[in-house]
Amino acid sequence: MANILIVEDEPAITELLALNLRHDGHTVRCAADAEAAQLAVQRELPDLVLLDWMLPGEPGIVLARRWRSEARTRQLPIVMLTARSQESDVVQGLDVGADDYLAKPFSTAELLARIRAVLRRRAPQTLDVPVTVGALLLDPGTMRVQAHGNEVHLGPTEFRLLRFLMSHPERVHSRGQLLDRVWGDHVFIEERTVDVHIKRLRDALASTGCASMIETVRGAGYRLARPAADPAATSASVAVQAA
Ligand code: CA
Repeated sequence: MANILIVEDEPAITELLALNLRHDGHTVRCAADAEAAQLAVQRELPDLVLLDWMLPGEPGIVLARRWRSEARTRQLPIVMLTARSQESDVVQGLDVGADDYLAKPFSTAELLARIRAVLRRRAPQTLDVPVTVGALLLDPGTMRVQAHGNEVHLGPTEFRLLRFLMSHPERVHSRGQLLDRVWGDHVFIEERTVDVHIKRLRDALASTGCASMIETVRGAGYRLARPAADPAATSASVAVQAA
C-alpha cells in the first residue's frame, strides 16, 4: 500500500478519490491548494501525488515543475488530473515530468489501474508482492524474510529498510532519502539513525552470508548490491512485473 497525497480543490472529487484509494488499501492525505500541498510534502514525502491541474492560486503544473526541479522531490511520482483534455495540455503535463495524466471525468477503475501501474514502475516497495534479490526473499504479505530458504528475524524498521533496498537494488540511497522513504520523516530524525538500523540489518543477516550485499557507498549512502554472477539477478523486477 502507498502513501498518496491528493491535491484537489473540489471537495466532492477529493472525497470520492480518497474513498476509493483507501478502499484499495492506500493511506491518503488531502490538500486543497498548492500551498497546502507543499507543506504536506515537506512534512512527509508521499509515494505518489494525484495533482489537479486547476487549483485556486498556483496551478498544479507550476507545483509539478517546482517538485521536479528540487532534489528531494525530483523522483516523486505524479499523476496529473484535469478537466482539460486537449493534446497541448497533455504534452505540457508530461513535459514537466508527470508520470501519467488523466482527464476528468475518469472512471475509478481506470484511475486505480493507472496508479498501480505508476507505483509498480516508480515505487515498487509499496506493492505487497514478494521480492527476490540473490538469495534473499522478502514477502510483505506475511512480513517474512528468508535467506537461502532459512527464516531471518528482523525488527519492523529493519524489515521496512530491507524492503525498500530490495525494491531498488543497485541504486545508491543517501541517508536523507532513506529517512524520507523508510521512516517518512527527514526533518526530525537524525541521519545516524539510518546507520544504527543498517548495522542491525547487517547483524541479522550476518549468519546468512547476505550481509555483504548491503554496501556502504562512501560519501553517498547505502545500496543493496546483487551478488556477482547471480542467475536470479533480474528476479526482483520480474517478480514485481508478474504481480
Ligand atoms: Ca480543480
